[in-house]
Amino acid sequence: MKRLVLKGTPVVAGVAMGSLCFIGADYDALMEAYEPKEGEEEFKRYLDALEAAKESLSEAASREGLSEEEQGILEMHLMLLDDDSITDAVKDKVADGMPATKALEEAVVEIKEVFAGFEDEYLRDRANDIEDVGRRILRKLLGIPEADITGDNLVLAAEDIEPALMASLSEKQVKAVILANGSKTSHSIIIAKSKGFVTIVGVDVSGIKDMDGSFALVDTGEGEVILNPTDDERASFEAKYEKQKGRSEYLLGKAGEKAVSLDGVSFKVAANVSSPSEMEKAVSNGCEGVGLYRTEFLFMDSDKLPDEEKQVNAYRQLLSSANGELCIIRTLDIGGDKKCDCLDLMPEENPFLGYRAVRICLDRKDMFKTQLRALLRASDSGKLGIMVPMIDTITEIKEAKALFEEAKAELKGEGVAFDEGVLFGIMTETPASAMMADVFAKHVDFFSIGTNDLVQYTMAVDRGNQRVSYLYDYFDPAVIRAIYRIISAAKDAGILVGMCGEMAGDELATPLLMAMGLEEFSMSVSSTPAVKEAIRTHKCTDVDLEKVLALESVSEVRDYLSRI
Ligand code: PEP
Ligand code: MG
Repeated sequence: MKRLVLKGTPVVAGVAMGSLCFIGADYDALMEAYEPKEGEEEFKRYLDALEAAKESLSEAASREGLSEEEQGILEMHLMLLDDDSITDAVKDKVADGMPATKALEEAVVEIKEVFAGFEDEYLRDRANDIEDVGRRILRKLLGIPEADITGDNLVLAAEDIEPALMASLSEKQVKAVILANGSKTSHSIIIAKSKGFVTIVGVDVSGIKDMDGSFALVDTGEGEVILNPTDDERASFEAKYEKQKGRSEYLLGKAGEKAVSLDGVSFKVAANVSSPSEMEKAVSNGCEGVGLYRTEFLFMDSDKLPDEEKQVNAYRQLLSSANGELCIIRTLDIGGDKKCDCLDLMPEENPFLGYRAVRICLDRKDMFKTQLRALLRASDSGKLGIMVPMIDTITEIKEAKALFEEAKAELKGEGVAFDEGVLFGIMTETPASAMMADVFAKHVDFFSIGTNDLVQYTMAVDRGNQRVSYLYDYFDPAVIRAIYRIISAAKDAGILVGMCGEMAGDELATPLLMAMGLEEFSMSVSSTPAVKEAIRTHKCTDVDLEKVLALESVSEVRDYLSRI
């Protein structure tokens, strides 16, 4: 087996090992290179591929640790594979001289159309499942290795992985991710972090497409991935791995303790989640409530808008698993790198500067009101804060609040109970909101600082673009000053101020944010034990704020903090 070392930029720190699994084969090239056989032989090839697809799917369906929903989907796909409709159509087309690959593609499109035309919603929804099972057979026909993530302990490699796919992966399946694209705060990476997948981006993965199954070591300290390592490399890696394990076990053992600084100030350490299913880990990692629930994943999972009932169920599930702690649920923040089939959005030249988040919600008021109603209805299950993202102007705050009041009035009229004490807050994540923080603070119950976007918009640097990532740093003095301005405005107005951008989960930033008076730190659940420990081992006066605010460059700020 060929030994290979690949370099990249670490974005989720740690060391991990596993079996390489490349996802995202180049279907077009493989289809073109496919050489059909004569007559019966070609159809036989299809039947073999079908059998192989059934086998791998049965294997996936019998894997331990699947949720009921995942199990149900896989079993239904097995039933579709057992149905003869695709096979009959392929048989006819192959008999007419078409290669099995092309015949399969056409058959899937035709059958999909039939399903899409059904009146019954359940049957209509099966159109996508037909496409999935068709892809499964096609992979076998094209000889693409079983890289559809059916094993465990994998090191996933890809050009890029969509946020929705990343969200569907489990910690048992995946140990590390290596990508050609992506950056620290692209949404796929944020999800990888919350799941604890050690991740390196900017890796040239073009030469490893055919190395599935190779043993891989990923070490972010070195910023490298070693495929088929030598015995010495393996031994030195294992020493690091044991050390990391010891540290995580120590921190996890203390995760339940409160986050109180050495000078006696209490801080809240909360979770950022993309699904209520993350709450179990959040609670065991010592999170006190939720500082950010990204509801867009509820919308991205499906090709139609989630109705009020579906949303109420998800929000109730979250609130009821938070032990009575405040849960801040963010209203839909779609756009930018988060795509959503159910909204039919037009492609844009500058999606991060375009039709996004609250801009969409205030344009599609019915959809927004449905979400607000669902949130209010779910407030019977816990302590809720509603947070609106990407606020730029006071008009947006007023319009969003008016819809919030309208939703309350409607529910009252219908005799539906909700908690009158639901908090209404905003994300401060644009330079406009930093400049206007003193004004905005008079109109809302809380601020949550979104450093992922605040850095992007303050520095005018696309958060997902590797080529300009040298400019993307939350320790830039311009960003530090914006953060201080927001925290100070919130404190002057006496409203709660938290941070839910990635900076909140960085231990290097903890003493600085403590000194500024940040009250709530919300982060990927895997980071909470370490940040709680950083709070417990510092005083709020460890950082000389005046000195830091006078520093002139990222390196000066980083140097200063690394000496604290
Ligand atoms: C942020 O911008 O910091 C944030 C938390 O929101 P998102 O990463 O979802 O844009
Ligand atoms: Mg944001």
